[in-house]
Amino acid sequence: MTDRKRILTGIRPTGALHLGHYAGALENWVRLQHDYECYFLIADYQVSDYADDIPRVREAVWEVALDWLAVGLDPEGSAFVIESLVPEHAELATLLGWFLPVSMLERNPTLKAEMAAMENPEDGSTERKSVPVAFYTYPVMQVANILMPRAHLVPVGEDQLPHIELTRETARRFNRRFKEVFPEPEALVGRVPRLVGIDGNAKMSKSRGNTIDLKDDAETVARKVRAMYGGPPRAANEPGRCDENPIFLYLRAFDPDTGGLAELEREYETRGVPNKVLKDRLTKVLNDLLDPFRERRAYYQAHMRLVRDALASGSERMRRIARETMDMVHDALDLNYLEKY
Ligand code: ATP
Ligand code: MG
Repeated sequence: MTDRKRILTGIRPTGALHLGHYAGALENWVRLQHDYECYFLIADYQVSDYADDIPRVREAVWEVALDWLAVGLDPEGSAFVIESLVPEHAELATLLGWFLPVSMLERNPTLKAEMAAMENPEDGSTERKSVPVAFYTYPVMQVANILMPRAHLVPVGEDQLPHIELTRETARRFNRRFKEVFPEPEALVGRVPRLVGIDGNAKMSKSRGNTIDLKDDAETVARKVRAMYGGPPRAANEPGRCDENPIFLYLRAFDPDTGGLAELEREYETRGVPNKVLKDRLTKVLNDLLDPFRERRAYYQAHMRLVRDALASGSERMRRIARETMDMVHDALDLNYLEKY
């Protein structure tokens, strides 16, 4: 046992991970993994919008674990957890739901936007769906995820902030009314709070298919960057505004040569730089970033048993803490009915 503070954070197993996950969240996880006791969750209870495609979820559990190993998370030091292997999450979500008014979900801006996108997809190719009950209550499940290991810090992308506010409110209510069980966790948003998609859309997201994946090979990255939206139409040598060209958002996010980039931005705004030049630079920057990830991923892909063991032992570690927390919760709520006689 250590007395380090705890991190809990997670990702839904709905597909391979992308640059948005990296810059918004994973980068912080890698940086903080040795300073905190970390629990990284594969949130497979929270995929109700993919319930018609469970094979995809099953596959994505492995993809997510491989991506975590690829970016350098160490499963010896940190616990890789499959949510449904710790069914205490479902119990805690049920109990915490007693104390959360529906109005707090109704006001949650992330949930509202996601439900609206499900019922009225913007792009014509996505099928309209009705919102499952479990989707409506997933923020409560997330509250239970964070409170289960009594976490102090939750490194996530910006879209998750309303859920963490909900968690803090729940912890306060519970502690005040019953017993001091839960620390009030802080959110930590990554260097790039919300990376745009390669189609110029506001968020790179698995569900939108506008991603560059961490496991994409060099040729795929080059092809995706070539096809990227490069701002409003502009002749090759016409000056433009960097802020209107998402390629610059990516370079700002990932180019380690900040001096060279500042120079390029000046040139773009004064004399103009063809998008081809920007795209070639970005392709190189991204492939340099992804190369070591690809190497580690290939190693683990050839040793899937190691991935399996990481998930099994991490889930077991979480289960022990979950039993501890549930004992505290039962005690605080005085639910140990059978102890009466
Ligand atoms: P989906 O579209 O299926 O919801 P997602 O890409 O949003 O998938 P999640 O599993 O919901 O992925 O999110 C995992 C974590 O990654 C969260 O902390 C989220 O904030 C962060 N994240 C996801 N996409 C981005 C992005 N484009 N920029 C910054 N952070 C992101
Ligand atoms: Mg999401």
